[in-house]
Amino acid sequence: MTKTAKYDVIIVGAGPAGSTAGFILSRRGLNVLILDKNTFPRKKLCAGLITLKTVTLLQRVFGETVDSLQKKDIINFESDRYEVFCKDRLITRRENIIPFRFIDREVYDNYILHKAREAGAEIIEGDGVAIRSLDVLKNTVTTLSGRRFSADFIIGADGVNSRIRRSFPVDLFGRDNWSGNLAVGHEILLNRRSVNRDVSSPSLFFDFIDRGYAWIIPNRETVKIGMCALNRTHRKDILAAFKEFLSSTGLKGATDEKIFSYVLPYGSYLPSPVFRNVMLIGDAAGFADPLLGEGIFFAQRSAELAAQAILEITKSEGPIEKSHKLLENRYTTLLQEHIYTEFVYAEKIRNFIFTYLNKFRYLPLKIAMSILGSRPIEAVHGLRSYQWLRRL
Ligand SMILES: Cc1cc2nc3c(=O)[nH]c(=O)nc-3n(C[C@H](O)[C@H](O)[C@H](O)COP(=O)(O)OP(=O)(O)OC[C@H]3O[C@@H](n4cnc5c(N)ncnc54)[C@H](O)[C@@H]3O)c2cc1C
Repeated sequence: MTKTAKYDVIIVGAGPAGSTAGFILSRRGLNVLILDKNTFPRKKLCAGLITLKTVTLLQRVFGETVDSLQKKDIINFESDRYEVFCKDRLITRRENIIPFRFIDREVYDNYILHKAREAGAEIIEGDGVAIRSLDVLKNTVTTLSGRRFSADFIIGADGVNSRIRRSFPVDLFGRDNWSGNLAVGHEILLNRRSVNRDVSSPSLFFDFIDRGYAWIIPNRETVKIGMCALNRTHRKDILAAFKEFLSSTGLKGATDEKIFSYVLPYGSYLPSPVFRNVMLIGDAAGFADPLLGEGIFFAQRSAELAAQAILEITKSEGPIEKSHKLLENRYTTLLQEHIYTEFVYAEKIRNFIFTYLNKFRYLPLKIAMSILGSRPIEAVHGLRSYQWLRRL
């Protein structure tokens, strides 16, 4: 019989969610194992935009500043302007007092994983450790190659197609709600030096696709052109709309590049992503903001909250096996306080934009953006709440 290795916490997935949780828990002295089916550094389809709230989190958790992140080449580019378009008509072009910052996911994710390793987490990566199944009663995960690992707590940080989530014996949300609120994302990458005009600030484009938007986003070396839209829109329509958008950009080479595609949560967040001592964080729980699909911050923020809940439970008296209810209550309360309200209101704003855009297109967006001024961007950066855009 195979021997089962035992840990305090097993984390499945070493993206920003899993590695952040691994870092916090290892630093607090827990015996942590992180498993990932990829070998790092690994690629991840992403526009690579991070907001002020992410930078603040990186400072709080890892002690990094914008300066130190730039010196390590983790933040590779920043821009203090942005533009919003409805098709090719400009809605707003603004200076932004807080710059948008850009990262390369290969570098960023590898760095956070390195921090978790430095803090003492054991990391096993590569094909052989793709998790095939979870036993929630025995708190055990089994890999494709048949290795078994067990722990007091298991964290599923294995992304939008989470095997851990799909192994839960209960349907946490209703399959239709989950898949109906996923978005399909398409993206191409152009070499920034070879594009035929200056792209030095991010632009968002509405009205190329129903229930979604498109973007042109600069990084230091590349320009990322992408589109995402709710799965409810037909997949073929999204791809056709993306191709139309690519040719409308007039950027040299845009229509010839290979298109990469992936799914992202877009309002599919789970109301209680915990079952017994197994918790979900990041994309595995659907934690990307339903307005723009920003997921890196919410991956790391939910990691912090899950780690906090585990640390509180391990300090409390009584056997770990009896702690399920406490863990569930604590984690969902923390999510309610720090994530869900924002998501509820971000989704309301999104639905408002998508509904009115469908009917009246350019004008209502133009009027709304000029009345609201910089408030929506301040909300994206975390200085305001999406709830009535009030200051935090
Ligand atoms: C086109 C596109 C553009 C985006 N742009 C942005 C952006 O600009 N800014 C932003 O904030 N967000 C963006 N996002 C969202 C962001 O990429 C995600 O929200 C973020 O990656 C979530 O992090 P995570 O750690 O939860 O999951 P992931 O980063 O997906 O990491 C999951 C990890 O789990 C591993 N794994 C999966 N299954 C298994 C298994 N069975 N066994 C072991 N390991 C497993 C994977 O190898 C992976 O390393 C974008 C998404 C898309 C699709």
